[in-house]
Amino acid sequence: MAKGMILKNQNGYFTIYNEEGSLSLCRSRGRLKRKTDVLVGDVVEFDTGKGSEAVITHVYPRKNALYRPPSANIDQLVLVSAVRTPDLNFFLLDKMIVLAEEAGVEPLIVINKSDLAEEAAREAAYFYKKAGYPSFAVSLRQNEGLEELKAAFQGPVIAFSGPSGVGKSSLLNWILGKSHFQSGEVSRHTGRGKNTTRHAELIQWKPGCFLMDTPGYTYLDINTIELTRLSYLFRDFRPFLGQCRFNNCLHAGEPDCAVKKAVEEGKIQRERYESYLHILDELKTKDFRR
Ligand code: GDP
Ligand code: ZN
Repeated sequence: MAKGMILKNQNGYFTIYNEEGSLSLCRSRGRLKRKTDVLVGDVVEFDTGKGSEAVITHVYPRKNALYRPPSANIDQLVLVSAVRTPDLNFFLLDKMIVLAEEAGVEPLIVINKSDLAEEAAREAAYFYKKAGYPSFAVSLRQNEGLEELKAAFQGPVIAFSGPSGVGKSSLLNWILGKSHFQSGEVSRHTGRGKNTTRHAELIQWKPGCFLMDTPGYTYLDINTIELTRLSYLFRDFRPFLGQCRFNNCLHAGEPDCAVKKAVEEGKIQRERYESYLHILDELKTKDFRR
């Protein structure tokens, strides 16, 4: 019996990083046959004593799981945006942060391409720092801010996400010191890069520390979030929660709302509050459709 972590699943053949730091190839069987039974990032026990083919016999409880690509036990989610080309979309970034919070993964925010708009990139990073998230303005083109960013990475499993074209592949390749990920020019037609990552795969960065690319930004389904939970997923709102007149306050215009008051007093940044209202509206619409 041996213990290890799943790095990759290729048609039911799992690559496992074992405790000795080497790789084993394994099958799953019996009770662990369904697609979501064994995820990339899972810590498993496997049986090496069955001839040539090792078999996974147990999956340890997960501390979290992402929906797309299916993966588990992510320690940090690096949310990459660009300040320009494509323009920074604050609302989308806020939504990605909410999803990370919901999944129980620690977000880290990267504003790339600071060479294109230095002041705006620095302000955006500061904005998210004030909201309670580690944030970095960087430029891969000009090698700015990258060492500070790297020092803030906290594994062992670090996932990267963000819209295409923001420089995610460039960043991953810089960290790994080689061209592992395909970096593409932004398409003139769609404004998007040509990143085609489909499957979860953990790439070893240093011994016992792994990186994972995720396609696009839909790594979790936002519709599973309950209306009353949403404000807890805004870290900067938390000091004010539980102080509204109504204990089921959605902070959307109810009287004596502590969140609204904090916005008026500048203790919560107004743009974050607007993102909150926007996401709340989306969730309400989804609720009606059910
Ligand atoms: P991905 O789709 O997020 O993986 O993005 P890529 O890494 O493929 O990069 C998309 C485009 O942005 C490429 O043309 C890169 O050369 C460019 N790019 C990446 N980083 C920077 C940067 O710091 N500054 C500028 N100006 N362009 C960058
Ligand atoms: Zn309220």
